[in-house]
Amino acid sequence: MSRLLALSHLPVQVNAPLAKYTAARIGGPADYLYVARPNDALEDLVTVIRAAWQDDLPVRVIGGGANMLVADAGVRGLVVVNHISHIETGDWHEGRTVSVSAGTGLLALARYCAVHGYSGMEWAVGVPGTVGGAIINNAGAHGDDMAASVADVVVLEAARGPQLYSQAAMQYAYRTSALKERADKRFVVLLANLCLPPGNPVEIQAKMDDFNAYRKRTQPPGASLGSIFKNPPGDYAGRLIEACGLKGYAVGSAAVSPVHANFFINQGQATAADYAALIQQVQAVVQQQTGIALELEIELAGDW
Ligand SMILES: Cc1cc2nc3c(=O)[nH]c(=O)nc-3n(C[C@H](O)[C@H](O)[C@H](O)COP(=O)(O)OP(=O)(O)OC[C@H]3O[C@@H](n4cnc5c(N)ncnc54)[C@H](O)[C@@H]3O)c2cc1C
Repeated sequence: MSRLLALSHLPVQVNAPLAKYTAARIGGPADYLYVARPNDALEDLVTVIRAAWQDDLPVRVIGGGANMLVADAGVRGLVVVNHISHIETGDWHEGRTVSVSAGTGLLALARYCAVHGYSGMEWAVGVPGTVGGAIINNAGAHGDDMAASVADVVVLEAARGPQLYSQAAMQYAYRTSALKERADKRFVVLLANLCLPPGNPVEIQAKMDDFNAYRKRTQPPGASLGSIFKNPPGDYAGRLIEACGLKGYAVGSAAVSPVHANFFINQGQATAADYAALIQQVQAVVQQQTGIALELEIELAGDW
């Protein structure tokens, strides 16, 4: 019997659909699925992941699934949905003030910081997903990003055990990091230590309210993955797609949003194949009409 399925005290599901764990509500089944809830112990998550690694299964972590297009055929091996939520504050070395588990929601972190008077996470107030996904992607908005606050990141690796990645080792750039670029996904981000200076809670909340209002004005509601493409240097992917006349263009149930052309909306029954075809067609038209090759901001995950 596999080590993974022998963990009878930890509920590993077999052949479990992933759509409800992704922001676009798309995705076929995982061979094995473990869902770590906010109050679960980190040790349990680690036990499950280590068992899968020992069984030589691929492991994929999903935070909020807000930046992943999961294939209709699903994901082979173990998928872990990490929602373990824990925030600690202190006055640690070299300006570290907040330690946060990777499964904590970005919004929860932003709100916590507002209430407790830590500045630097205001941009995250309308960004779905978890700290883990934001650490990997270098998520950001309103001219700020995760890289600006990260001091170091605790990562468990299959080959080397627990590792501390310094900010420099993360090699942050626009919406990417050393970990995002790694082809082997044999690691899991466990927590991050952040340098968030003290701030006035009222001012922090006011900034977050402004960001929220801006987002409501400019971004569509509905199931999506946020921005599909990175902005090319000196321009905006949304502006280019709109200029090519593609607002509202659809493949199956996946459509370019009429509100923001870099958002593709699942209008109900969209498949990953619909999404992928829409991505390819939009890329082709933009390339043909503008000469610009749009690069994906989202990741394709699973069995394509
Ligand atoms: C409506 C909407 C608006 C958005 N707006 C923005 C925005 O303004 N700015 C922005 O940057 N992004 C935005 N996004 C994209 C998304 O919110 C961010 O990329 C977010 O950081 C993704 O976090 P996640 O937890 O959902 O990551 P996921 O999509 O779950 O995962 C992303 C990657 O990180 C990996 N991963 C996640 N957690 C771990 C972990 N603990 N250990 C190892 N690997 C892990 C996954 O395997 C995957 O490779 C938006 C998305 C939506 C749906």
